Amino acid sequence: MAIAKVDERSGTNGKPQAEDKPFLPFSAPWFGPEEKAEVLAVLDSDWITTGPRTRQFEKDFAAYIGADEALALNSCTAALQLALASLGIGAGDAVITAPLTFAATANVMFHVGARPVFVDIRPDTCNLDPAAFRDFLTSRCDWNASTGELRLREGGQRVRAVIAVHYGGQPCQMDEIDALARAHGLYVIEDAAHAAGAVYKGRKVGTLGDVACFSFYPTKTMSTGEGGMLAARDPEVLRRARMLSLHGMSRDAWKRFGKDGSWRYDIEDAGLKCNMTDLAAALGLHQLRKLTAFTRRRVEIAARYQRELAGLPLQLPVILPEVETAWHLYAVQVLSSRVTRDDLIESLKERNIGSSVHYLPLHLMFVYRERCGYKPGDFPHTEAVSGRILSLPFFPRMSDTDVTRVITALKEVLG
Ligand SMILES: *Cc1c(COP(=O)(O)O)cnc(C)c1O
Repeated sequence: MAIAKVDERSGTNGKPQAEDKPFLPFSAPWFGPEEKAEVLAVLDSDWITTGPRTRQFEKDFAAYIGADEALALNSCTAALQLALASLGIGAGDAVITAPLTFAATANVMFHVGARPVFVDIRPDTCNLDPAAFRDFLTSRCDWNASTGELRLREGGQRVRAVIAVHYGGQPCQMDEIDALARAHGLYVIEDAAHAAGAVYKGRKVGTLGDVACFSFYPTKTMSTGEGGMLAARDPEVLRRARMLSLHGMSRDAWKRFGKDGSWRYDIEDAGLKCNMTDLAAALGLHQLRKLTAFTRRRVEIAARYQRELAGLPLQLPVILPEVETAWHLYAVQVLSSRVTRDDLIESLKERNIGSSVHYLPLHLMFVYRERCGYKPGDFPHTEAVSGRILSLPFFPRMSDTDVTRVITALKEVLG
């Protein structure tokens, strides 16, 4: 599908710029006339919250990733929490993930009463390292084959799941992770917040684990303002997630104010309130139709960065041959002996160029040090990468001139 032509000078859809070099953000969403018309149609329809457009968006998204069904929510954070709750993970349990991620991935473990446990990344892909995962399962846990239970040697919590974060849009090594998880009775949850549109060995991200969670936050590969989507292999898990997303009300409670709805309902469990609105779904319906074109543009920009930044003291993104990354982030690691990552952020800022750090090590955040006892040195790869990584401006609406500006600035500062 075609997307509107970008003004080559400003990259801001032709709006006049007061300055010669306007601020170039690290990311920006892109809505067109289709989204705007759909939102207005929702406002005129008298049904603004979860309703027909949310159902359509769920159907379209499920078809896109090759699933039977999907559940639209108000965030990926909610999807992650419902993933854990729907799989029956709670007090006395532990869940594994990598510490180079956004806080949401592990915060939700606290919310269901489970203990977050980290395993280090591969420093090239920034994804969970299958070798470190294997090592953790064998050296830090006890596997009881007769009960099928894996327990943390220190603490005794039962390890129930691994959340594989597809960093920057590149799928994790899911075959390796899945085999280890199966052998130890663990569920696999995909944190696909970065990865709508990514492919692993011919299969779309979202169907690779037991549950998958997507984000439609404004910086992600497609946006509904705020929003998320959950997909599950087992329809019963998806049914539970749907029930828990709307107070724990029994089936199709969202219809209760419509003609076909019943005013009677039961509360099956103490759920959350994290359903998607039709206003958000109106955006999602059209963003999804543009996702392939958005990704194509991301691939183009990434190819220029990969080609034209080669030779600078930067570790450029490493993409494994078996995947098609969604290219959510273009994150470089600064290897210069003269210029630190923090210096580079300042130098780019002086040139009116934005950037961002994904991520500070999660295990060193106050609550993880306090409640889990983590300390500096626990995850050397995450700490090293976190100290040198920088996400460059990277979004489909960027013009070729914008890309040149970033490349020129990097050559000036690092060359
Ligand atoms: C953005 C993000 C989330 C949370 O997404 P929301 O939709 O903002 O709740 C979770 N995990 C990762 C890795 C993210 O980048």
